Amino acid sequence: MSVNELGLTVPAWLTTSETYGFGSVPWRHLAASKWRFVTHTPYNREYLTALRSLGMRGFPYMTFYQTWIAQPHQGVRMSEHTDWLEIDEHGHWKRTGFWDSEDAKNMYCTCSNTAGYRESLLAYLRQIMENGAGGIFLDNVHPGSQCYGEKLGIHRHLYPTQQEAFASLMKEAQALIRRYDPEGALLVNSADPVTLPELYWPWVDCEMSESYICTWVSTERWGDWHAQWNGMDKKLARWLNVGKQICCLSYVGWTSNPLKDDCYFCYASARLMNMIWQAGNAKVYDDPECAILYRIETGLPATEEIVTSDGVHYRIFRNGMVAVNPTDSAATLEVSHGWPTSQLDDLYEHETLKVNWLDGKTGAVRVHIPAQSGRVFLFEPGTDDLVGPTLLADARNSRQCTLTIETQPALGKTRFLVDGIPLWTYSGRWTVRYEMGSNYGKCSITFDEPGTHRVEALDLEKKALLVSTSYEEGYRIDEQLEAESANLQPGESPRLGRLMDPSNPTKFLDGAGYAFAGWEGAVTGNEPAVEIRVDGPAILVAKYREL
Ligand SMILES: [Zn+2]
Repeated sequence: MSVNELGLTVPAWLTTSETYGFGSVPWRHLAASKWRFVTHTPYNREYLTALRSLGMRGFPYMTFYQTWIAQPHQGVRMSEHTDWLEIDEHGHWKRTGFWDSEDAKNMYCTCSNTAGYRESLLAYLRQIMENGAGGIFLDNVHPGSQCYGEKLGIHRHLYPTQQEAFASLMKEAQALIRRYDPEGALLVNSADPVTLPELYWPWVDCEMSESYICTWVSTERWGDWHAQWNGMDKKLARWLNVGKQICCLSYVGWTSNPLKDDCYFCYASARLMNMIWQAGNAKVYDDPECAILYRIETGLPATEEIVTSDGVHYRIFRNGMVAVNPTDSAATLEVSHGWPTSQLDDLYEHETLKVNWLDGKTGAVRVHIPAQSGRVFLFEPGTDDLVGPTLLADARNSRQCTLTIETQPALGKTRFLVDGIPLWTYSGRWTVRYEMGSNYGKCSITFDEPGTHRVEALDLEKKALLVSTSYEEGYRIDEQLEAESANLQPGESPRLGRLMDPSNPTKFLDGAGYAFAGWEGAVTGNEPAVEIRVDGPAILVAKYREL
């Protein structure tokens, strides 16, 4: 089939859309979303132009199928143009198909095969485009029935069949949209894309699966998930392969399931097929547990949809993975993949899944997927100091072989030597007050592997502690000042700071200080220098007594 027969190139912003807006969405939700378009928007220039300022396009509603007889609609008062209505075999105006099902009284089918009606629609569309729309949401794209208008001498037809007339009108509408906005689009709704007539597809940029899984006429998720919803992409491959898109519009909120569960199930089911999704319920905007789905992007697919032996469907994308368990049994999903990050964020559970690296490139992720549920996992960069498959073991060992020296009482700025390396105990710092911190009076060192180490207490006497009087002054305490202060007597404050109690830097030293009194913990002894074996986390306590 030639490019011509398949239609115009679908704009890139549409082919990369994942969710979209519906209706007069409050501005704060638009700004927070990742949407590139909104359907059923107001028609006015202010709204449509403002959408563009957010990098989005608005698609106001139109129908070529029906109209009200008693009020103006799409720029026409049809009671003044009854010759544009579709005529049944009895010569009567043809009632809309929704006359009873949706109580659409006084609505009649229009004949898209009449020149006058077509001109009025295109004139109306022109005004919408002039107001800044990105195109229209064209509802009621039905296969087309028969009109007896010409046969009964009521009006003239331009095309042999209603379907051909409708297709050519779609073609003209799409061309008009592209003239105003080269990246504009014709979005249509037949409700069931699998049944959309072949004649229509070339002029469609995006079709719609309406009441996708959830609908307002059923208290349960409806349809057969496998037969009706999943696999729609394969049935439509011919059109999807050239970039045409499908919007899945679910109407969540009518079943007995939690709103969040239906949102995740429908969203994940749509994303499995790389289709665009909307919840079809304004409540979702204000529910952060659900609205998050409008604020993420999985990115383009990195794999095909995969089905496990337990019947769980999953697919990996550039930024994450979605999974659906359409069965009635909970399942464990285990996926081995060359994950780009060492952890995944389980959006539903608010949990982080660690990748279990199997070798340098591939890792396994295991996750529980409840029955009849959908889940979304986003790749999340690791936060460990050392991550990556080959470094994990080293990092683990290094963390395990840690020697911590704790002074008792906890004394700040007290010095030790470990294998000749000088270590100072922590001594607190300023925020809006002086904070001693949880490490006060401690220092630690890690080793790559188990071994024996020599530890020596350097400060056999610990007298006053030099403490700055503010955060800024802290910058001016240097090594020399620190050394000089060791010879000062309490009360002999240098230029900077005050000489405080090493066990409490917020208190002046009123005694004579502290003296080293031996080791406890991992080893015991009274000599300043000891040897200690470290093959795991080890704590050595340096005891001091008041002078
Ligand atoms: Zn007709």
